[in-house]
Amino acid sequence: MRLDVVSLAPEAFAPLLGLGVIGRAFAAGIAGLHTHNPRDFATDKYRKVDDEPYGGGAGMVLKPEPVFAAVEAIPVLLRRRVLLMSPQGKPLQQSNLRRWASGYDQLVLICGHYEGFDERIRSLADEEVSIGDFVLTGGELPAAVIINGVVRLLPGTVGTQACLEEESHSALLLEHPHYTRPANFRELEVPAVLRSGDHGAIARWRFEQQQQRTAERRPDLFGRWQAQQQLQQ
Ligand code: SAM
Repeated sequence: MRLDVVSLAPEAFAPLLGLGVIGRAFAAGIAGLHTHNPRDFATDKYRKVDDEPYGGGAGMVLKPEPVFAAVEAIPVLLRRRVLLMSPQGKPLQQSNLRRWASGYDQLVLICGHYEGFDERIRSLADEEVSIGDFVLTGGELPAAVIINGVVRLLPGTVGTQACLEEESHSALLLEHPHYTRPANFRELEVPAVLRSGDHGAIARWRFEQQQQRTAERRPDLFGRWQAQQQLQQ
C-alpha cells in the first residue's frame, strides 16, 4: 500500500519506520511511506503556509494554496482514499482501518495545524477522521495512529491471521485475558483452566471472559453484541 502524508512536520513520521512489526512491513515493501510538506509548495519568498482568519479571531489558519499544490503533486493510484485529520471528523473505528486496508492501494493523509485549516481544504478529502474527542496541536499523531492501524492489517505484516481475527474490536467483544509463564507470580496465579490442556474448557472460559470484560468495561459494545446475538437466533 502507498501512504502519502501531507504535513508541515514530516519528521514526525520517521519513528514509524523503526517501529517493530510496522517498521519491518515498510522495510519489506508491504507499505511505502511518502511525506509531502506544503511549505515546499508555498510560492512567496517566506514560504508562508498560514494566515490570519477572515473575520478576525484567535490563531492562524492553514492556507489552501500550498495544501492543494502538495496534494495535486502526489501520484494518483486507482484505488485511493484521501483522509483529512480533524477533531470534527467521524471517530476512528477498527472497521475503518479494515476497510482502508482491504479496499485501497493508496491512502493520502492530510494533517492540519494551527487553529485549523481553510475550509476549502475539506473538498480535497473523501473522509474526515477524528481519533477522539480531544484536540491535539496537529494531525501528525492522528495520521501515525491510522498508518499503524492500517499497516498492521496488511497481509504479511502480522504473523498469523488468527491474531487479527481474535483481538478486541475485530468483533464487538473485547479480547480475553492473556497469561504467560510463570504460573505463579507474586502469589498471582494463572487460572487453572488455562493449564488444564482441555481445549474445549479453555475456549469456553475465554468466551465467558470476553463477555464479562465487555459488559464491565464497554456496556455500549456489549449491548450491541447482545442485540446481534438475538438477531442471529
Ligand atoms: N480549532 C480546531 C477545531 O476546533 O476543530 C482544532 C485545530 S487543531 C489545534 C489542529 C489540527 O490538529 C487539526 O486541524 C487536525 O488536523 C489535528 N487534530 C487535532 N485533534 C485531532 C483529533 N482529535 N483527531 C484528528 N485530528 C486532530
